[in-house]
Amino acid sequence: MKIHLLTADVYNKIAAGEVVDRPYSVVKELVENAIDAGATEIAVEIEAGGKSLIRVTDNGCGIEKEDLKNAYAPHATSKLARAEDLFGVKTLGFRGEALASIAAVSEMEIVSKTAAGEAYALSCNGGVLGQLAPAAGANGTQVCVKNLFFNTPARLKFLRSDSHEEGDVAAMIARFILSRPEISFVYEANGKTRYRSYGDGLRAALAAVYGAEVLSHLCEIDAAKHGVRLHGFIGDRNYSKPNRTYQSLFVNGRYVVNQTLASAIANAYASYLMKRQYPFYVLFLDVPPEIVDVNVHPNKADVRFADHNLIYGNVYSIVSAVLDGNSRALEYVVPEQGRAKPAPAAPPAQPAPAPSAPQPTMSYAEAKKELGFDIPLYAGSATVPRRMPQKPVFEVQAPAPQSDAFEENKKFLRAQEQSAKQQRVDPAALAFKGELFRTYLIYECGDDAYLVDQHAAHERLIYDRLRAKWEAREVVSQPMLAPYVAELNAQEHAFLAKNYEILREIGFEIEDFGGTSAKISAVPSDLMGMDLPAFLQEVLSSMESLRAIKLTDILKDKLATAACKAAVKGGARLTEAEARSLLEKMDGDMGLKCPHGRPVAVHLTRSELEKLFKRIV
Ligand code: ADP
Ligand code: MG
Repeated sequence: MKIHLLTADVYNKIAAGEVVDRPYSVVKELVENAIDAGATEIAVEIEAGGKSLIRVTDNGCGIEKEDLKNAYAPHATSKLARAEDLFGVKTLGFRGEALASIAAVSEMEIVSKTAAGEAYALSCNGGVLGQLAPAAGANGTQVCVKNLFFNTPARLKFLRSDSHEEGDVAAMIARFILSRPEISFVYEANGKTRYRSYGDGLRAALAAVYGAEVLSHLCEIDAAKHGVRLHGFIGDRNYSKPNRTYQSLFVNGRYVVNQTLASAIANAYASYLMKRQYPFYVLFLDVPPEIVDVNVHPNKADVRFADHNLIYGNVYSIVSAVLDGNSRALEYVVPEQGRAKPAPAAPPAQPAPAPSAPQPTMSYAEAKKELGFDIPLYAGSATVPRRMPQKPVFEVQAPAPQSDAFEENKKFLRAQEQSAKQQRVDPAALAFKGELFRTYLIYECGDDAYLVDQHAAHERLIYDRLRAKWEAREVVSQPMLAPYVAELNAQEHAFLAKNYEILREIGFEIEDFGGTSAKISAVPSDLMGMDLPAFLQEVLSSMESLRAIKLTDILKDKLATAACKAAVKGGARLTEAEARSLLEKMDGDMGLKCPHGRPVAVHLTRSELEKLFKRIV
């Protein structure tokens, strides 16, 4: 393979842009180069989130001695020489600028050996080339990037915490494992193996990234329509995730974030998932290269389709046929027996079990037996991770009302809001009169009656109490009999880990527990008996919005809301004494709203009732 310098003409036809801004983008460029070089084994190691070290080793074609210098040159590529080539781009990299721009802002070294030649090394520090020197090395290439952005403090400042960067690198590697199931990947962060795949197919790749358990919730599809092929795995109707980090789309092998595809899939799932539940999918769309423009965005994360209605329609109809289980689904679903293939070979040396490996629900051997093929180990542990228990805790999205029903509805809500805006009543003056449907407490006071939503009121009280305690730093933690282990993906883990301190401040005892799991061993005593999985789902579902908001206060507020939602059980019958004390604790405030903004009390007057019975008009 020869490296050409692109002419300005060709170069300018390519959307220019910053390629490298974060460790994960460096990793992405280096791994893409390894894939383009035909590697079947790729190892990625990082330290300090990739800030101090990124090393990518491959067994690909290598770079010839004379070409090492060119690899660092801007606009140097072996993958494209003429403008016409742009319209049939098959390799991943094609602008020839990645190595040059990474070398300009780091201390970089390439050691490479072609099958025919000897190994040579060439370094480049902050853009200054070193001396070409003979080196030791196997066939292939090793690229080592140290101290990224050491000479550009402004960019260094924009990097996130080590664990955040590491989470993003892990997400990137997971995509490579999924999109290249025929390649073996090893990913190590700070000396610990996070992912390991063995290049033996997509099912094994899914097990390597998400744990083998996930496979029991997935359906494999393979459908071809109008020259477009959609294949991969989608979660079944009952399987949902609290955020969008479990969705991967690949167009012609390239990871993309694409609105047309994402909304086609989301709409196919719309009638099965509740609000704030997101589908799981790993899907590959293969289209003729001439109907897709891969050159939309400098970092190549999006694509544009020549006919996006066709693509939308195809994808929507395939995914919904499978979910609805209609007759056409038969054509699309890959039958079970077609899936389990015998293991090609025993996997290479398996990593030792992590000392603090979580209790598995399924052992490696069991999972292997169940699947009928070998699964690679996950995150350096010899166990197959448990998935976080799924429990829908979210409200069902109300169907859009008809327009006049909508008007009426609004009027009703306005009236309700009006009556909830009560002035404070003296709790002592209120007589408890009973309860309705195990939900509403009835109180009377002169010509006024109040219906109090016991659930909302209770929730509100816990919330206020929690906030007050947190503010006064009077937190009491209550250890749990059995600690709870949450299995998280790398991004979820990074988000949670960033907020461990706040969680601890408010009474949770939480810590890392091998790989990307977290262990909770105590909860705030006010929340004893809370539904922890539900709470975590709530917290993780706000990941995207909370990431932007760093104010501890807002986070605490969200946590309080999530916590009491998970703490209060509806439908419990209160004793008369409890019903009274609830009102006292509310301090007679009938205008309260529960933490979700619903009114706690509704006000009825004697004359309103008399109107209903036509006693007065
Ligand atoms: P591009 O990938 O767009 O061509 P890069 O700057 O990423 O540009 O790489 C420049 C050139 O260096 C590539 O075209 C390729 O010839 C060579 N190269 C880079 N990494 C590798 C690798 N891992 N194995 C073999 N060749 C490589
Ligand atoms: Mg490249």
